[in-house]
Amino acid sequence: MKFEYSRVKAVEMLDDFIQKNLHEYSKLRNFDFGPEKRSNVSCLSPYITHGIISEQEVIQKSLSKYSFSKNEKFIQEVLWRTYWKGWLELRPNVWEDYLIELNNIREEFKHNQNYTNAINGKTNIECFNHWVIELKENNYLHNHTRMWFASIWIFTLELPWQLGAEFFMQHLYDGDTASNTLGWRWVAGVQTQGKHYLASEWNIKKFTNNRFNNIKLNENAPPKVSKKNYSIIKQDFSNKNIDDRNLLIFENNLSFETTDFQSNVFKKIYIISNKNENRSIKLSEKVIKFKSLLIDDQKKRLQDKSIDCDILDISEIKNINESVIALYPTVGENLDYLIKNNLKLDFLYRKIDQCSWQYCNKGFFNFKNYIPKIISTFN
Ligand SMILES: Cc1cc2nc3c(=O)[nH]c(=O)nc-3n(C[C@H](O)[C@H](O)[C@H](O)COP(=O)(O)OP(=O)(O)OC[C@H]3O[C@@H](n4cnc5c(N)ncnc54)[C@H](O)[C@@H]3O)c2cc1C
Repeated sequence: MKFEYSRVKAVEMLDDFIQKNLHEYSKLRNFDFGPEKRSNVSCLSPYITHGIISEQEVIQKSLSKYSFSKNEKFIQEVLWRTYWKGWLELRPNVWEDYLIELNNIREEFKHNQNYTNAINGKTNIECFNHWVIELKENNYLHNHTRMWFASIWIFTLELPWQLGAEFFMQHLYDGDTASNTLGWRWVAGVQTQGKHYLASEWNIKKFTNNRFNNIKLNENAPPKVSKKNYSIIKQDFSNKNIDDRNLLIFENNLSFETTDFQSNVFKKIYIISNKNENRSIKLSEKVIKFKSLLIDDQKKRLQDKSIDCDILDISEIKNINESVIALYPTVGENLDYLIKNNLKLDFLYRKIDQCSWQYCNKGFFNFKNYIPKIISTFN
């Protein structure tokens, strides 16, 4: 698998997937046929995470090929991301608490043999070891495999989910605060309290086309328990005045020219780069490089349109003297940096988020009902 670092390539992948594979998505999406046979899923997540292509763009293109009813499963999956994002936006202390817990557990497990075996792919579970290598080599795992991986980590290897979520963030090109943290919480059984995801030998064999043997798992573990309940914190996602300001773009919005704000005029655009010094979770070199190349690609595309822009390290935001406004970075490392450093910025929110996040107060089952309404706001 190779993820190129350009919007042109990402759009090619999207078009190709829609033309050739979308029609079989709902039938085949749960199969992990191995890294060389990924055409049954889109592999677009590294690009959607970085805003290289947007959920709206993906959905609109899919709808230009097939009707909503033929496309429903795919659209639902694309909007899972938006749902998780909104869910976390309404309960940002889930992320705060996660980082506090992670900090404590990290120290405790630093020399734990079980943990070091797991992250080095040296357990006695063949498929798990295989996936560790795959993750480090390709920086991507299939969704079903992420579920199995997390389940084995938590219930068979008996390691804390917080460390597993960190390991994913370090190596995934699509590493996303909301989808990853809440995905791990969901597998553990603390996201939907009492409901966990237990991987089983038959399921792994079936959906990997019998590629693995010796899958001895704990298939009866009880869900993890958390005493914490998170109530919704009301937020204001309305947009502030744009006129005559500089714009900051973070790593989640690296395609300014396709955003809702493409026709607004900004004095200058700063693309903010956040290297490891200012992250709670230190990313692998490959992931940092991927982000940095995507940022370069965005800069080049803006310059081709004669838009005044520059790349700026996050630590330099404080030195911009003129008025700035920022495309909202969403709950995660970049917003944490702004908050910790008392950098109070005005934000611009995407239309899709403004519309969708209001429906993230309950479960995805409820959110699904609003999908036609969300899509109707696209035009
Ligand atoms: C434990 C765990 C951790 C995860 N961590 C991440 C993460 O850090 N970043 C990330 O982008 N996704 C994460 N996911 C969700 C999902 O696994 C990936 O988005 C998906 O595998 C990406 O592959 P794809 O683009 O081929 O997906 P496709 O099946 O082609 O789906 C199309 C798009 O829909 C969205 N999508 C699909 N499934 C999900 C889902 N379950 N949750 C959220 N969005 C989804 C993605 O944007 C994806 O690109 C995680 C899931 C689990 C169970």
